[in-house]
Amino acid sequence: MISQLQQGLRSLKCYHMANALEEVIQTSKENDVSYLDCLNRLVEAELHNRRLNRIRIQFRRAGLPLEKLLEGFDFKFQTSISKRQVNGWLDFSWLDNRENKLFLGPSGVGKTHLAIGLSREALQKGYKVRYFSMCDFVEEMILKEASSSSKEWLKELLRNDLIVLDEIGYLPIDPRYTHLFFQFINECYEYRSVLITSNKMPAQWGSYFGDESVAMAILDRLMHHSEIVIMNGDSYRLKDKLDTLKASEKFSDGAFPLRSKAPSENFN
Ligand code: ADP
Ligand code: MG
Repeated sequence: MISQLQQGLRSLKCYHMANALEEVIQTSKENDVSYLDCLNRLVEAELHNRRLNRIRIQFRRAGLPLEKLLEGFDFKFQTSISKRQVNGWLDFSWLDNRENKLFLGPSGVGKTHLAIGLSREALQKGYKVRYFSMCDFVEEMILKEASSSSKEWLKELLRNDLIVLDEIGYLPIDPRYTHLFFQFINECYEYRSVLITSNKMPAQWGSYFGDESVAMAILDRLMHHSEIVIMNGDSYRLKDKLDTLKASEKFSDGAFPLRSKAPSENFN
């Protein structure tokens, strides 16, 4: 009887119910559980496992390059942002409201770590996320344009709740493609959330994009309904080397700056 039922469940594509059937019936018998409760447990097993599978698939699709967790973020080292502030983001109302986040700061202060950690939490909650380094994004954007498939690509991208563009500002973008990037940001505006990390302050975006007015239009759309986090401090990458370097600074002429500049200044 059980194997017949399992077969039926499998043909209904309720694989998790089929797998859990024997155990749920057994424990229901032992604990004198009602038929209704037993059925409920089976349905819950199906729903729970389907959700886990969906999340697993979304994790793969997101293209996160590294495993960085929010739990591993040291808020004592990076004090520009508090744990309370980050925890406040975890209800993801900012994604529901199609708001953006911009993490700005010099190299090594934890922008990518936070972006990935936050993306993972969003994925766990069932949101769809797609991560790109800006370099890969631009490359793909140009390829899709060349093969006349940018419309389909964009449509696919806009199915995500969050699009992460990491490291805007390191490698210069060919000004010929700035308008394409503007089109993308314009499509996202008030429709999908974008998380940007950049080592460039807004004032430097004009020269980065090679066109002051398009850069302003991009920033305008990104910054409206957004939270901007300026992250300062020392590079975490140099954490263990800093004491040695600071000691040696006494003997140097200060040519090698160990501390990042104030937020109002250029980052690099
Ligand atoms: P950025 O993107 O700002 O250049 P990253 O996020 O790539 O910096 O950080 C560089 C390295 O230092 C990564 O390995 C990251 O995990 C680690 N890191 C940076 N900030 C912190 C922090 N506050 N706590 C723990 N690890 C950090
Ligand atoms: Mg980074």
